[in-house]
Amino acid sequence: MRGRSVWKRLLGVERTVVDRVGLETADGEEVIVVRVRPQRGSRSTCPHCERRCPGFDAGDGERRWRAPDAGIVKVFLEAEAPRVECPEHGVVVAAVPWARHRSAFTRTFEDHIAWLVVRTDRTTVSSLMRISWRAVSNIIERVSSERSKLGDRFANLRRIGIDEVSYRKGHRYVTIVVDHDTGRLIWATPGKDEATLRKFFDELGPERCDRIELVSADAAPWIKTAVNEKCPGATLCLDPFHIVRWATDALDKVRRQTWNDLRRSGQRQLASSLKSGRYALWKNPENLTELQKAKLAEIQRANRPLHRAYLLKEQLREAFKVKGVVGLWLVDAWIKWAQRSRLEPFVKLARTVRAHAFDIGSALVHGLSNARLEATATKMRVLHRQAFGFHSAQPLIALAMLKLGGLCPPLAWQS
Ligand SMILES: [Zn+2]
Repeated sequence: MRGRSVWKRLLGVERTVVDRVGLETADGEEVIVVRVRPQRGSRSTCPHCERRCPGFDAGDGERRWRAPDAGIVKVFLEAEAPRVECPEHGVVVAAVPWARHRSAFTRTFEDHIAWLVVRTDRTTVSSLMRISWRAVSNIIERVSSERSKLGDRFANLRRIGIDEVSYRKGHRYVTIVVDHDTGRLIWATPGKDEATLRKFFDELGPERCDRIELVSADAAPWIKTAVNEKCPGATLCLDPFHIVRWATDALDKVRRQTWNDLRRSGQRQLASSLKSGRYALWKNPENLTELQKAKLAEIQRANRPLHRAYLLKEQLREAFKVKGVVGLWLVDAWIKWAQRSRLEPFVKLARTVRAHAFDIGSALVHGLSNARLEATATKMRVLHRQAFGFHSAQPLIALAMLKLGGLCPPLAWQS
C-alpha cells in the first residue's frame, strides 16, 4: 500500500489509483509500467466539458502514457481508455486525470517539455527527454492551447501594438498583438489582413475593445481599417521607426540617382567614392567612425543635394527622438523643408508623412513606438529558425505564446 502512494507521489498524478508496478521490456529496453485508473469521482467524464457522462464502450482497450523518467528508466502509465457519450460532444474517449486529451504523455511530462522548450534548443530537449521533435510540437500546441484558456489574458488591455511577422524568407506571415503595459505577446494568428485582425477584436469582445486607448502599428492600411472599425475610441499611433525607415529608403534613392549621374558624366572617381560612402549616410551620426565622418564631409563638399538628403533623414529622426510637442513642431517644419528640397523621393515622402500626420502626431505625443513588436517579431523568427522542424504556423505560434506570452507552465514541484 505504501509503495503505491510513493509511486503516485513520484509520478505527480492526482485523483488516480495506482494498482501495480512492474518492469517490462518494450522496444528492446526495460521500462517501468504503472497500472493506474481514475479515482471514482474522476471517471466517465467528457474531456471537453468535464461533464459526467454515461459510458459508451471500452474504446480501443488499454492505452499507455509516457510519464517523467525514474532515474534513467522510462516510465509508462497503463490504463483502460473507455469511451463515454456526451450529450454535447458525442462519443469521445473519457478524460483521465493524469493526461491531456488525445495525448500519449502525462500532464507532468508535457509540462516539463514545455518548460524545457522555452529555455533550450530542440536537440537538447529531444535527447534529454528521448522524444521526437514532432511529438514535442504536438505537446507545446496542447499545453499552449490549454494555458491560453486559463484566466483572462485580455483583461485590462489599454495600450496594444499590432505588427506582422514574416518568416520562411517572407513567404509566410503571422499577425501579432503585444500588450505595451506587460510587454507580453497576447495574440498571434497566421495571416496579415483585415479579416485576421478582426478575429482578435472579436475574441476581445466589444466591451474590452472599448477600453483600449492606444494602438501602435506601422502604416499598413488593413490595421488602420480594422482598428477604426472595431475600436473607434482608440488612438492609432504610427510607429516612428517605420517612418525613419522610409526616410532612409528615400535617401538611398537619392544616393543611387547621384551615383548613376556621376558615372554617366564620366566622374568615375567621385562615383566610386560615393559607393563606399553609403554606410556613412545610413548610420546615425553619433555612431560614425572617424573615417565615415570624413566621408560625410567629402559628400557635403562635393555633392550638396545628396548631403541635403542626408540632413533631411537626420532631421526626421531627430523629431522622433525629441517626441512631444517639440517633435510635432519639428515634423511640421520637416514636411515644409522636404517639399521644397527638389529631391523627388523626399518630395514624395513629404506627401506621405503629411497624409499620416495625425497618427504620427499621436505617436509623438503618447511616446508609443513599435520597438517592442519589432523585438517580438525578431524573437519569433529566431524561434522559427531554431525549431525548423515545424511544418505549420501553429507550433511556432504555440511556442511563441509559451515563451513570449508568459504561458509556460511551472515545473511540477514549483506549482
Ligand atoms: Zn462534453
